[in-house]
Amino acid sequence: MLLGGVACLALWQVWLTVRLLEQDQSLELQRSRERLGEIADLALAQLSRSLGDWQIGLHELNAFPPSPSLRARFLKGATFLRISQDGIQVFPQRPLLFTPVPPVVHPQTPGAFDVADKLELREQQYDRAIAALQPLTLRPQTRPEALLRIARIQNKSSLQEGALNTYKSLTSETAFDPSGTPYALLAASARCRLLMNLGRRQEASIEADALRTRLLDGRWPLSREAFDYRWSELDRLGIAAGSPPKQAIDFSTLVAQLYNRWQIAQSSGTSPSGRESQPDSSLLIWNSTSNGLSALLTLPDWLDTTLKLAPNSTDVHWKLLLPGTSGGTDLTVTRSMAEAQLPGRLEFLSIRPISGAASNRRMLLLGGAALMLLVILGSGYVVYRAISRELRVAQLQSDFVAAVSHEFRSPLTTLRTITELLAQNRISDESRRRQSYVFLDHETNRLHRLVEDLLDFGRMESGRKQYRFEPHDAFDLVRATVNDFTEHAEAQGFSVEADLVTPEGASASTIRVDEEAFRRAVRNLLDNAVKYSPVCRTVWVDGTICDHRVLISVRDQGMGIGTEEKQAIFQKFVRGQAAKKAGIKGTGIGLAMVRQISEAMGGEIRVQSEVGVGSTFTLLLPLAED
Ligand code: ADP
Repeated sequence: MLLGGVACLALWQVWLTVRLLEQDQSLELQRSRERLGEIADLALAQLSRSLGDWQIGLHELNAFPPSPSLRARFLKGATFLRISQDGIQVFPQRPLLFTPVPPVVHPQTPGAFDVADKLELREQQYDRAIAALQPLTLRPQTRPEALLRIARIQNKSSLQEGALNTYKSLTSETAFDPSGTPYALLAASARCRLLMNLGRRQEASIEADALRTRLLDGRWPLSREAFDYRWSELDRLGIAAGSPPKQAIDFSTLVAQLYNRWQIAQSSGTSPSGRESQPDSSLLIWNSTSNGLSALLTLPDWLDTTLKLAPNSTDVHWKLLLPGTSGGTDLTVTRSMAEAQLPGRLEFLSIRPISGAASNRRMLLLGGAALMLLVILGSGYVVYRAISRELRVAQLQSDFVAAVSHEFRSPLTTLRTITELLAQNRISDESRRRQSYVFLDHETNRLHRLVEDLLDFGRMESGRKQYRFEPHDAFDLVRATVNDFTEHAEAQGFSVEADLVTPEGASASTIRVDEEAFRRAVRNLLDNAVKYSPVCRTVWVDGTICDHRVLISVRDQGMGIGTEEKQAIFQKFVRGQAAKKAGIKGTGIGLAMVRQISEAMGGEIRVQSEVGVGSTFTLLLPLAED
């Protein structure tokens, strides 16, 4: 129950620590999010200010190219656009592969080519037809059309070289045919086709390549359809053109869209404006008025250079979340870009590690919790140890009381019986009466010894025992004790063999001891040797002198003592398991007394024993100083 209580307390402590840590973490997270929120709001406010400035700046974009001071108000690398009645202007110059503004086509002089047409188409008189066209080449309005027809007729009349030359002179013309196609473009592609037909493939592909370059340069104001047609024609003219560059196509498409917007605005009489993110992440800002439309197209990395975070936020990273994309975690803060009139959201994340103060706080918390846990477990362990020791002592004491009662009861019963018999004169035989007296003497002595032992032990325990130390010959005392004991031992069928030898050269075995205590110690060892030798009926007592000490060993070949009990048996009330199991009577104070006596005399008691082999208890006592 105690252990359960301690475990519950420890678990509660761990749970409390975990909860505290969690709370601390969420507090830290909340603080970090608040800080991120402030940084995000500041950055967005600054961004929408910059975009507002640009929008205002665009209103001043009336003259082209824009003045350096006006350009300086915008981001570096931006493209300026102006669509007005004057056409489309781009700064810095970028090619328009196609244009939404149709070219100005001068109408043909009516009937100018009727004669030539009749000679060429109806009468097939090619020479005369060319002659009829020659004068028309001298007039600027009819010259390009006349040259085109001459070249066509020359080709028909197998004058290919002449046709090639005529087309060549036409390539420098700037006029457009009635369908809006530049004569120069018509001539250039016709030349390529003719060269291909003549088998002059190399020349054809060089010219086709030049044509491709001019298409990409945006040399001619073509419609989207015309550009696509001419581009696809390049393959037929002998070069693999591939796809036109996406960037240029996108830009030309954007310009076309802006033109359409302006047209709509003009027709509706409104002046719309706007900001848009382009697929390549660049930003388009535009303003339209009745006079024209001004626009600004940034580089794709415009947000990186424009979005400025507060100086103390080097740990903060951001990314753009396009509309429709999900994002945002516990660690991030997202802000809509609506304030800057832009689609999408910005996500801000701090990569700052846990602040020093927070980690200190956590360390402190963990340290305190660990200490408390240690205290709980430690005190639990101490209480557990104390209680179990108390319980053990209580158990030992109750065993002791039971054992002592037992020790007293059997001799007392015998004494009472014999005394009764003697008192009632029921033992008539003299020899048996004598035997009874001897028995009475023997049992009274045993009881006396037991009482003395108990009293002495009580005195030793309370420190009241008075020893009278006097010099004695150790071996003489041992011999006397053995002699006293022998009678008792022999009655039980035991013999005691004593071998007490003072080695040659050694001084006499004189020790300073309390005689009675010393004899009690030896007697106890002898009692045990007999008590715990159920089979072997001999007990040996050896004595010698070594290292200024007298060694007295009492040896038996009895049941022996287990290794785990060798220390414990010297404590009061402790009895060996084997002894208890074998039902051998005892109080558990004999060896405790021997230890107390030997220590009081400045010596010690040792045991060597093996279960089933026997035991040797040795008293080691210092020799008396001369
Ligand atoms: P008691 O003999 O009254 O039990 P002791 O203090 O004299 O108490 O001895 C303690 C225990 O030591 C005994 O119970 C016994 O198990 C063990 N013991 C003592 N002497 C011997 C011995 N000579 N042989 C085997 N065991 C012994």
